[in-house]
Amino acid sequence: MINHHPDANMLVEYASGSLPWALSISVSAHMQLCSQCRAKHQQLSMLGGACLDDAPSENVEEDSFARLMGRIESSKNTAQKSAVKVPQSKDLQTKQLPKVVQKLLPDNLQWRRVSSALKMARLTTGQEQYEVAFHKISKGGKVVEHDHKGLEVTLVLEGSFSDDGGVYQRGDFIVREPGQTHRPTATLDQDCLCLSVCEAPVAVTGWLGKVINPFLSIRPA
Ligand SMILES: [Zn+2]
Repeated sequence: MINHHPDANMLVEYASGSLPWALSISVSAHMQLCSQCRAKHQQLSMLGGACLDDAPSENVEEDSFARLMGRIESSKNTAQKSAVKVPQSKDLQTKQLPKVVQKLLPDNLQWRRVSSALKMARLTTGQEQYEVAFHKISKGGKVVEHDHKGLEVTLVLEGSFSDDGGVYQRGDFIVREPGQTHRPTATLDQDCLCLSVCEAPVAVTGWLGKVINPFLSIRPA
């Protein structure tokens, strides 16, 4: 059962198209797993449509409707083509991933070991503000305690992890902000795969942080 969702502000920004692209990916991926947020999004879209109905009309070029339909058709064709081929990775059950995440998979996903319990693979999303990446904690593994220097969104895709705030399972959408220190630990039964969207590098706490924090960075792409 999913217990953690994007807040109302984030859903409104997503529905209105004003949410940064990297965060929209995480909200969209969550909604593919969460019927509750899908229903809320549908309500917000209907509300947005009703507002447009009441807005004063604008003069548009005669062929604009035909051009719009042409763009929709061509994007459908592109979507159908990209749905055919999902790159495989031995570290991922790709078919279990939300479709929006499947579309981000490169042909050759590069995993990098961060610590004995944690590895990561960056994704390219065509924006310059947030680093979007998979993080995988091995079963029973503990990530070093850290704070955040910017917004961090984590969407659990496989397995589960816990921290002081509770236990998070597939579909849970967790937002951490500066000042929120935690130490994620994967449950013992299976590895935990998350999609992470980070605005800034984490800040490791304690003496270790003094040593390694100057070397931590993010790489938006
Ligand atoms: Zn939800």
